[in-house]
Amino acid sequence: MIRAMRYISTRGRAPTHDFAGVLLAGLAEDGGLYVPEAWPEFSPAEWRALRGLPYPELAARVIAPFTAGAIGYDTLRRLCLDAYAGFGHPAVVPLVQLDHDLFVLELFHGPTLAFKDVAMQLLGRLFDHVLRDQDRRVTIVGATSGDTGSAAIEACRDRDRVEMVILHPHGRTSEVQRRQMTTVLSPNITNLAVEGTFDDCQDLVKGMFADAPFRDRMRLGAVNSINWARIAAQIPYYAAAALALGAPDREVAFAVPTGNFGNVLAAWGARRMGLPVARLSIGANANDILPRFLAANDMSMRPVLPTLSPSMDIQVSSNFERLLFELLGRDPDACAAIMNGFRRDGRMAVPDPSWREATTLFHGLGLDDPATETEIRRLHAKAGYLADPHTAIGIAAARSGALPGVPCVAMATAHPAKFPDAMRVATGLVPALPRHLSDLYQREERVRVVPNRLDAVQDAVRSAVLRNAA
Ligand SMILES: *Cc1c(COP(=O)(O)O)cnc(C)c1O
Repeated sequence: MIRAMRYISTRGRAPTHDFAGVLLAGLAEDGGLYVPEAWPEFSPAEWRALRGLPYPELAARVIAPFTAGAIGYDTLRRLCLDAYAGFGHPAVVPLVQLDHDLFVLELFHGPTLAFKDVAMQLLGRLFDHVLRDQDRRVTIVGATSGDTGSAAIEACRDRDRVEMVILHPHGRTSEVQRRQMTTVLSPNITNLAVEGTFDDCQDLVKGMFADAPFRDRMRLGAVNSINWARIAAQIPYYAAAALALGAPDREVAFAVPTGNFGNVLAAWGARRMGLPVARLSIGANANDILPRFLAANDMSMRPVLPTLSPSMDIQVSSNFERLLFELLGRDPDACAAIMNGFRRDGRMAVPDPSWREATTLFHGLGLDDPATETEIRRLHAKAGYLADPHTAIGIAAARSGALPGVPCVAMATAHPAKFPDAMRVATGLVPALPRHLSDLYQREERVRVVPNRLDAVQDAVRSAVLRNAA
């Protein structure tokens, strides 16, 4: 008998929820992030028993303790089987060997060719199930600079109880990224091209949530990277890779190209659940707040620099708060004080013992664009491997954080065909889009250009919701 799982806020002043509650809530009411009240742990024998399972079966078994009490195991298993059936590789997340102790885990075989599909494809189905269970509907609004929007749209297209409105900055996403969003013609999907920047899009989404009557009438919801369900859905692939390399009877290491810290937090979670993870290497681009933190306890905000790896162009890694909470011995008041200070001063005052503890497990590497290009070229020349800029940064972090005798698995987070220009400059090659996207440039697009004004965006949301309620 598995006990029901409850979730608490990292800032200690929000109601606790079960899994369905945190799925729908996203951010906690006190501004904190939801974490499990107690982390589930598997014994070595329990881990061994999971070796060799097909990926969807493994995913259901690893996620089950997190959904306990909210979603039955048979339902969860069915949703996992369905979520991963559409992936373009029979292994779902194939493990590829590059060198004696260096591997990549390809997380980009989902519909939009980025690792976010692994979590989003399951999330869309979890939303549908929970909303039907509670006889509710939701309007998901979100802002994207590219990848997150297309993964969310692919996950929620044609779902009965989900209306989705995604804002992107007009003319500022790559053509592949835009077309992956605007060529989805499902009636429940609305793409708005905002005459402004990505930050303007984010401000408009915040503005919609801040308008309480509008938020309630439209039943607004979000699927951004702070949603706990996304973290839970990312833990199984770390387990899959570790088990394939001999865990729990052998130590492994992971390297993760990092933006919002969601993916690497899932790696930490796999370790917390009992897998022997000896090191977590974090790769960053020129936006190197995390490597600076690890090197010198300097977690200070700087302006965002645009790079070859746009999904890691961030100023603040929002999911870091979940690790901070753990490093502080799960003290919510200390966590709230530090996060408030960070917002006020632009600098996070992590206590020295917590920082020191982080440095015993985490290793950080920041790579600028020229070094990223060199790494892409080197990987192609040495291992015959085409790594997109994000993945190349992850592999470089794996090498710089290598431990003798410990195999390291770098997360391959995007398909190289998503970044044709960077690949051509570095290697002279332009990787082909996989078959299911080969006609992307010929498909019909549907998108509405809107001015950078809250009332205009709210009108568009209102008419989308009315149209589909009718
Ligand atoms: C989102 C994304 C990342 C960063 O992941 P986080 O969970 O935000 O750290 C890295 N690479 C790619 C290709 C992404 O789309």
